[in-house]
Amino acid sequence: MPSESFACPRCKAVTRDPALARRGYCANCQEFTGLCGAASLAVALLATGVVSMPGWPHPCTAAGTEIWQVTGADGAATGVLLCESHGDRLRRGATSWMESRGLKLAFGATRRSCAVNPAGGP
Ligand SMILES: [Zn+2]
Ligand SMILES: [Zn+2]
Repeated sequence: MPSESFACPRCKAVTRDPALARRGYCANCQEFTGLCGAASLAVALLATGVVSMPGWPHPCTAAGTEIWQVTGADGAATGVLLCESHGDRLRRGATSWMESRGLKLAFGATRRSCAVNPAGGP
């Protein structure tokens, strides 16, 4: 069994409780910050007045594998984990329309170590 822990992208606290880590739950933030943060990005976009997000399905319950740095319209920066699929959407151009709404997105790093892999390895 790999050690199941994850570092919260927001508060940097490391969750070592296997049951919590598997669900991506940070007890410090009291949020599922270890899961894909597509929904938190959506919330940030809604705050800028966006009403629909074509090509941005949310909420997403996949495990977050990439850390992105999101700076909101109010200038507050926060880390958010995204799954591969949502990270891909950003790389394929979703960043440009989000940035046109006032959000700034920057790729941070992949966090393979904190990825929960439900599909199993080869
Ligand atoms: Zn946290
Ligand atoms: Zn996702």
